Amino acid sequence: MKRIVILGSTGSIGTNTLDIVRRFPDQFQVVGLAANENRALFEKQIKEFRPTVAALFNKKSAHLLTDKKRYPRTEILSGPDGVMQVAACPNSDLVISAIVGAAGLLPTLSAIFAKKTVALANKETMVMAGSIVQREARLHQVQILPIDSEHSALFQLMLKGKQEEINRVILTASGGPLLRYTPAMMKQVTCKAALSHPTWKMGPKISIDSATLVNKGFEMIEARWLFDLPPEKIDVIIHPQSIVHSMVELNDLSVMAQMGLPDMRIPIAYALFYPNREPLPFQQLDLTKLSGLTFEMPNKKQFPLLATAIDTMTEGKTYPAVLNAANEEAVHAFLQEKIGFLDIYKLVRKVLDAHVPTSSDSIESVLMADRWARWEMTKLVQKGKK
Ligand code: NDP
Repeated sequence: MKRIVILGSTGSIGTNTLDIVRRFPDQFQVVGLAANENRALFEKQIKEFRPTVAALFNKKSAHLLTDKKRYPRTEILSGPDGVMQVAACPNSDLVISAIVGAAGLLPTLSAIFAKKTVALANKETMVMAGSIVQREARLHQVQILPIDSEHSALFQLMLKGKQEEINRVILTASGGPLLRYTPAMMKQVTCKAALSHPTWKMGPKISIDSATLVNKGFEMIEARWLFDLPPEKIDVIIHPQSIVHSMVELNDLSVMAQMGLPDMRIPIAYALFYPNREPLPFQQLDLTKLSGLTFEMPNKKQFPLLATAIDTMTEGKTYPAVLNAANEEAVHAFLQEKIGFLDIYKLVRKVLDAHVPTSSDSIESVLMADRWARWEMTKLVQKGKK
């Protein structure tokens, strides 16, 4: 029986993880849950899974959960410290890191410091502080298992070849909902259009990141750290059908691809059952039912945030952390309809241009860069509204 903690249990990855747990009650026990403020769903999850400990980041929402008689088996915690405590919960074997955004960084580190195996969905953690996370994982002898479908694919493919035999890895991208938009259409993108991902069902932040393609840039940075690859060995290709999840090219020029239907429960289950595999009761991929598998170069002019993310990966230092924070604030402003879709890139670019980078070797410098970028972005959004 694997004892698991789910950080971000009320989100898209969190609920998909619980869907698998529910199907395999003899194999998994939920011992910790954490979320932000969705009290109604969180309460249902506590009642159903009866974890030892549960925390809501939002203290007001957590306050409403303190009727001990309703959850006799569960200790209820709140705030950032509560979430960190859940991440480090002593009786767990595996921590699913599925909080969205920079808020996932410290809880993920907390799990690593407690020597827990981490199944990582929260890519922003690697974008902000990939070198720190890898250093701490090595020091604490912690394995990080990827949940992102592309990284799960690469992880599985890399088990088949030696690191020095790898020419390059090729991450696939669906291209998002705006792939075929003309420049004129790009000026009119609504929230609804940007949120309508053609192949994956995901939370709002990653859906917008997929529409700007910055998500693919984040995934390149994530791959850089997860697999210890230099930036020049990481490529991206557009593959609208989302069937090939990623590829590895070896030095003898054979290319290996990992395929499957776009269902996040498959890579989540891979991480949950690792190192074993288990038959899953989901829909099977029928290649004869597909009209074709196509591949094309990404249009970096139409999606300049992809090029920007690649630049920050090469520049290193605190640039990726600033990109992450500025982007997170800009996406938030876009979702609140305070700025237009194309403003996301324009404003992120301004913040990056104003940044004086420092080394990203310490968590303090990363958090300082994160705070600075958010402050700059907030000022730009407010200025734009006047
Ligand atoms: P969602 O928006 O659906 O869910 C986010 C989760 O994080 C919610 O449970 C939310 O709680 C919780 N949360 C937010 N802030 C905090 C906080 N400060 N402390 C504790 N919990 C918090 O996001 P997704 O599930 O789509 O994505 C989660 C992560 O996984 C992201 O980093 C994303 O990039 C990555 N990912 C997602 C994929 C997907 O298919 N969805 C695929 C690959 C990667 P509440 O509901 O209470 O607000």
